Amino acid sequence: YSQKYYDILDKRIKLPVYQFKDNLIKKVLENQSVVVEGETGSGKTTQIPQFLLEAGLAEQGKTCVACTQPRRVAATSIAQRVADEMDVELGREVGYTIRFEDVSDPRSTVLKFCTDGMLLREAMHDPLLSRYSAIVLDECHERTLATDVIMGLLMEILPKRKKGSEHGELKVVIMSATLDAQKFQEYFHGAPLMKVPGRTFPVDIFYTAKPERNYVEAAVRTTLHIHQCEEPGDILVFLTGEAEIEQACEEIREKGRAMDSELVVYPLYSSLPPEQQRKIFSAAPGPRTPGGKPGRKVVVSTNIAETSLTIDGIVYVVDPGFSKQKVFNPRIRVESLLVSPISRASAKQRAGRAGRTRPGKCFRLYTEKSFYDDLQETTYPEILRSKMSSVVLTLKKLGIDDLVHFDFLDPPAPETLMRALELLNYLGALDDEGEMTEIGYQMSELPLDPQLAKLILVSPDYGCSAEIVTIVACLSVPQIFLRPRESAKQADEAKAQFSHHESDHLTLLRAFNEYDQIPDNEKRQWCWDNFISERSMISVMNVRRQLIGIMKRLDIPLVSSDVKGDGSFASADVRKALTAGMFMQVAFRQRTGDYLTIKDNQHVAIHPSSVVNNRPEWAIFEEFALTTKNYIRTVTVTNVDWLVELAPHYFDLENFPKCEAKGELEKAYV
Ligand code: ADP
Ligand code: MG
Repeated sequence: YSQKYYDILDKRIKLPVYQFKDNLIKKVLENQSVVVEGETGSGKTTQIPQFLLEAGLAEQGKTCVACTQPRRVAATSIAQRVADEMDVELGREVGYTIRFEDVSDPRSTVLKFCTDGMLLREAMHDPLLSRYSAIVLDECHERTLATDVIMGLLMEILPKRKKGSEHGELKVVIMSATLDAQKFQEYFHGAPLMKVPGRTFPVDIFYTAKPERNYVEAAVRTTLHIHQCEEPGDILVFLTGEAEIEQACEEIREKGRAMDSELVVYPLYSSLPPEQQRKIFSAAPGPRTPGGKPGRKVVVSTNIAETSLTIDGIVYVVDPGFSKQKVFNPRIRVESLLVSPISRASAKQRAGRAGRTRPGKCFRLYTEKSFYDDLQETTYPEILRSKMSSVVLTLKKLGIDDLVHFDFLDPPAPETLMRALELLNYLGALDDEGEMTEIGYQMSELPLDPQLAKLILVSPDYGCSAEIVTIVACLSVPQIFLRPRESAKQADEAKAQFSHHESDHLTLLRAFNEYDQIPDNEKRQWCWDNFISERSMISVMNVRRQLIGIMKRLDIPLVSSDVKGDGSFASADVRKALTAGMFMQVAFRQRTGDYLTIKDNQHVAIHPSSVVNNRPEWAIFEEFALTTKNYIRTVTVTNVDWLVELAPHYFDLENFPKCEAKGELEKAYV
């Protein structure tokens, strides 16, 4: 073993969970399911999967231990850490799988970290999860949609994978950072509990006297204040997303430069490349001048640092009290990510991050009254606020027909399930009896939202599957067009070169096609010059390659409308294909001038970022954004003749709600 191995081993042995190793192994060997509840940072995620390996649960080339994570960054980062701890190369004995990225090897991987969504996908091909001897469900307190569905599936799988069954016994370890263990114990038929006490120091909590108007500005101000007035110790700041985090980092760096001690600032969010993510674990810098004040590290992070990743050395936490959360309204059938207040349980977790190494301080950027009056006790499970269409398709594929009696920990509203079934029926994935169709099977093979999957399936009929797969890949990665505040005008001008006046989707396609033609060694500069995210473009290439691989397997032909081979395409055909896949997301311009969505009668406006500015009568859209106003985003012009031709069962005159669009439809049918 290397020196690094022994250095890390020294730290591992000191983790609280280490003392419970023998006890845990014993419990796991004696029971099929075990619940582990332990303070964040006690070593659950990094150590417990390794204990299972030591217990002899996995056999190279035959069986494997999986550990699920709700977030991609956690899966990749922890896999790397555990590979280092075991002194092996990532991708061999220890690997990870996240959507569109598989760094594991069936012949050698014995421990695999994966997102909960990926394990669910695997179950579609391996319904008994026969490759696995043990599954560690991590971060169960977060109650993500996929984790909840996996727990429901395990209810069906566990009786079929008892000792002596064909694929051998399947062990399950349910891990949680908070006090909801009892609920999990009951659900898993009285599974024993192991409690791992944390080693935490007291944290003083401070509230603001008045509510803050702008929490980003307040977070920056508070961070700089801590840096100036408080004892040495690193700072962790919670914000909600990439743009906000980058802006705050920039401002803290800039204003921190004027002060006399060294300050390093690192961002942390999901789309950050791995080598930058790793920086958050590096030690704080030394003093700027010999004998001067010691330096300080600031990490500005999304929720990921709340419980998934523990950064040692944090003494101060700045908590504005918000995170991005999935919100679904089944009545208007839209799901959106909204910046929403966190729960009191989250706020307590966040504060706890300050007491890892010594007594710390947590600065809450809201009033004490607000903490007690406005914040909910715990976060509502995601299953109760999500769009269910993708999950329903997965469950149907798994042969689970009776969704109403499926054993969910918290069953979703029947209304939400009905909406999902209805959508899948309109898309042709389920027939009128609710049975899965051939199209449905193919859709479930694509790791995409059902509507995007349908889009790919229909695209060869319009001679443009090569274009559609590019567009779908562009929609599956973070923002491609960058628009920094200080150079918004130049960014808009750069984007205008690619703009196709009838479609944001075609604008994305054009940008990609140009990027594709640029020689590799000039791509970086080209992206920089055109305000295009190079990282996103690299992801588009990767996602596109993988989708094309799946299309090959499913016998979906790859045809291009670019007959000249010069990067041009038949725009009408592509728009028609988009209409055929996304006909349910369509809005109609009324005489009053505003737009009304057809499926749910919402008044909306085309988002100002759209290239479509000639106010078309009909527009299909990718996304419904709820801000100060209802917006539709990523828009393509369509027309009533196409809609009626492509989706007659949806635009059925008899059942069509009475509205201005109905008159248009009537004309089209005549
Ligand atoms: P838990 O799952 O109980 O919250 P973890 O197993 O994630 O705890 O963390 C245990 C310890 O390992 C923590 O002290 C954490 O800081 C450390 N650790 C985890 N990942 C890394 C990494 N990539 N680099 C350095 N330390 C790490
Ligand atoms: Mg953990």
